[in-house]
Amino acid sequence: MTRKIIHCDCDCFYAAIEMRDDPALVGRPVAVGGRAETRGVVATCNYEARAFGVRSAMPTGRALRMCPDLVVLPPDFERYRAASRQILAIYRDYTDKVEPLSLDEAYLDVTGVDRCRGSATLMAEEIRARIFAEVGITASAGIAPNKFLAKVASDWRKPNGQFVIRPEEVDAFVVDLPVKKLFGVGQVTAARLERLGILTCGDLREWALADLIARFGKFGRSLHRLCRGIDERSVSPDRPRKSLSVETTYVTDLPDLAACVAAVTPLLDDFQRRFDRLDPAPAVHKAFVKIRFNDFTRTTAECVATTPAAVDWPALLATAHARQARPVRLLGVGVRFVEEADEAHGAQPGLFDEDAAARD
Ligand SMILES: [Mg+2]
Repeated sequence: MTRKIIHCDCDCFYAAIEMRDDPALVGRPVAVGGRAETRGVVATCNYEARAFGVRSAMPTGRALRMCPDLVVLPPDFERYRAASRQILAIYRDYTDKVEPLSLDEAYLDVTGVDRCRGSATLMAEEIRARIFAEVGITASAGIAPNKFLAKVASDWRKPNGQFVIRPEEVDAFVVDLPVKKLFGVGQVTAARLERLGILTCGDLREWALADLIARFGKFGRSLHRLCRGIDERSVSPDRPRKSLSVETTYVTDLPDLAACVAAVTPLLDDFQRRFDRLDPAPAVHKAFVKIRFNDFTRTTAECVATTPAAVDWPALLATAHARQARPVRLLGVGVRFVEEADEAHGAQPGLFDEDAAARD
């Protein structure tokens, strides 16, 4: 049976809430994020700011150099969460199969739902109109037969628009799609693919499954399916947590490995507190450290582990640090949990490549 999946995504969510609550901000470039003085980064910015080249995850200092009039606001998650709860309640008016991805983004499986004469397109229009009327911000939507395509489609008419990919249009839509749009393909994987001459899904389709698995391991199977528009992941309302981590950006770079080892102790304390709050604690299968060097390159090192207490964190840190041996601006520590669905669902691209999609 063909499914009907909607991916709903509010437009520059944090910034939109700020503009809603302070009309004086409307029309001005606005970013929500950390302060430049504490080496914060932009979490979200509005379209006026984007016109200057400001982007999510950009250091605030750099954003201010690009756009000196940028209004930088600290995040107020209480207000964002309140809006998020309202939006989720709207989604749940249509289906119980709602899988939130973040405060402002969710998948809805509306297969078999008879509202709006059963039209997912009309449901998406109605949902967006209700978000505007009841929450006071705009949202965009993608409608497609699976999650991957719905998410790509929601980006197509942003802001305040929607785009439908009908089952019979999937093949033609996907063939020209750049591979970097594929679920789980971040900068690192995209660069590897490009070195193989693979830029679009059409290029990727010329590769046999066995060759992709040889190059990319389990993720090769995922690539083989995604480039044909196939994605059978279900919309799961209670997606189990895949990992837990904490990270810190330092005001002053950590000059060497010894400084990193010293800095990791308080980070681990913070991590352990959060880990202890998990109830029930999921089974751990890996531990990792993440480093971002002062040239913004980053690396992770991981090891098999069943509990964070058993991990030789300084050794893991040394492995990661040795790859560049430069001053460090960010350290992170965390664990990955055993996923029961791992085998059943095939690849878990989210684990393979953590380059997050732009938060807009
Ligand atoms: Mg968004």
